[in-house]
Amino acid sequence: STLQTAIQGEGGTIAVIVPARPGTEALNVTYKELVAEVASFQQKLAAIGLGLGSPVSIATVNSYEFIVSFLAASWQRGIAAPLNPAYKQDEFEFYIDDVKTAIILVPRGAYQGNSPAVKAARKFKAAIAECYWDLAKKEVVLDVKELGQLEGKAKQPILKPQPEDVALVLHTSGTTSRPKVVPLSHRNLTRTMKNIQATYQLTPQDRTMLVMPLFHVHGLLCGLLAPLSSGGSLIVPTKFSATDFWRDFVTYSANWYTAVPTIHQILLKHPTPIPLPPIRFIRSCSSPLSPTVFHALEDTYKAPVLEAYAMTEAAHQMTSNPLPPAQRKPGTVGLGQGVEVVILDEAGARVPQGSEGEICIKGENVTSGYLNNAAANATAYTADGYFRTGDQGRLDRDGYLEITGRIKELINKGGEKISPIELDNVLARHPAVGEAVSFAVPDELFGQEVGVAVVLKPGKTLTQDELRAWVGDKLANFKVPKKVYFTDVMPKTATGKIQRRIVAETMQKQDC
Ligand code: ATP
Ligand code: MG
Repeated sequence: STLQTAIQGEGGTIAVIVPARPGTEALNVTYKELVAEVASFQQKLAAIGLGLGSPVSIATVNSYEFIVSFLAASWQRGIAAPLNPAYKQDEFEFYIDDVKTAIILVPRGAYQGNSPAVKAARKFKAAIAECYWDLAKKEVVLDVKELGQLEGKAKQPILKPQPEDVALVLHTSGTTSRPKVVPLSHRNLTRTMKNIQATYQLTPQDRTMLVMPLFHVHGLLCGLLAPLSSGGSLIVPTKFSATDFWRDFVTYSANWYTAVPTIHQILLKHPTPIPLPPIRFIRSCSSPLSPTVFHALEDTYKAPVLEAYAMTEAAHQMTSNPLPPAQRKPGTVGLGQGVEVVILDEAGARVPQGSEGEICIKGENVTSGYLNNAAANATAYTADGYFRTGDQGRLDRDGYLEITGRIKELINKGGEKISPIELDNVLARHPAVGEAVSFAVPDELFGQEVGVAVVLKPGKTLTQDELRAWVGDKLANFKVPKKVYFTDVMPKTATGKIQRRIVAETMQKQDC
């Protein structure tokens, strides 16, 4: 099946509701209207020459136009490449170059404003178009500002996607090397959609409150595509807002949501709605949910909390705790859901039940390999086709998976994965910096925060704020270090290698 056949446009049920914002009207769209809009946007893409394999970067916030352009690109056999609209120019350049963007879609007004996305796209001669919902015309507009490499390209026929076509490319966060490009086919995506639908028994009666960004698999697959393939309704604010969350939830009668633990924790600090709306379940994924937060959520919202485990290469979900009456086990990420989970030792052999090892998975949802990365692909799969997650864990007697650690060193700030290597490289470019090593430091709200150890060049000075400003100029704000440790020497191993964990431990002793 494909993203075209999975979303049929049956009947007149509501597909998408975008809540009203000050000065706007709420937008209500039925499945029939959504499908017609996607088909019409597909024609607009075909008219400027987009077809099989054309990468379409989408740099807009969660919105109706995101949903329409994403689906239209995939229906036209193109490859959607969603990007965080908050990226700075350097980041846009990196991703646009990497996915060979043919056209980038930016919000209304972004072209005139010469946004970082526009400047970056121009450098690689990508076509640039503003994409937005026009209230007067009642359509999603594709306002092409520059054709770039599409100049003179012939109009394409309307195409029909095939299950093996790549529909989506996303980057991993990059731990041991540069971020890896993960292509996901229609088959991969629709498998996850079915798995999620089955796990949570999603039906046309369900109403999903979408709060995760659509430029990661969490929001895209679990927040958007799985509900769409179930025929349910979606409530789509532009982004998560703790103050608007329950108002929208109640106004539009949502009955479940999925989010990272950080969002759950923020909500717990806000007033609980009275009366409490009926919530069928709350899903948590992307970073560890502490049993304390698990119980606080269940007590406060009177709903089962289901923790799941996911990664980009698996088109999001691998495991999840099941709905009642089946047992939920706090501190575990539940059972394989349409995905086979095994624990292997370093030699690739199965460990005895209950022992720790690398979590490895197999399923139709798993990518068939990173793009242009033979080295990574050579070690990513076992001889019998299991994908190595790089996470450590163990399975209990009932098959529930407990994640015990990460083989990698990524900084996981409330579900946002930050590559320490990317940060090291940016810091190292500062004229006063001799050496810099980034690592995760524990944080009450985000689970982890960014810490850096810095050795200055002889005779140079630098303040914490100057260093943060340097990073903030080049990377998205969430990557700016919270903890900065200046040190005279960088701790190293006997062989002269940096071990982030050791650096982190040594630096944090300064806190005591
Ligand atoms: P890279 O592949 O570059 O190392 P990444 O794997 O961190 O980046 P993502 O695909 O966004 O990037 O995140 C997947 C990872 O998130 C998993 O491999 C796991 O480490 C972590 N993760 C996901 N869900 C959970 C969870 N419920 N509990 C703990 N960790 C989780
Ligand atoms: Mg990974």
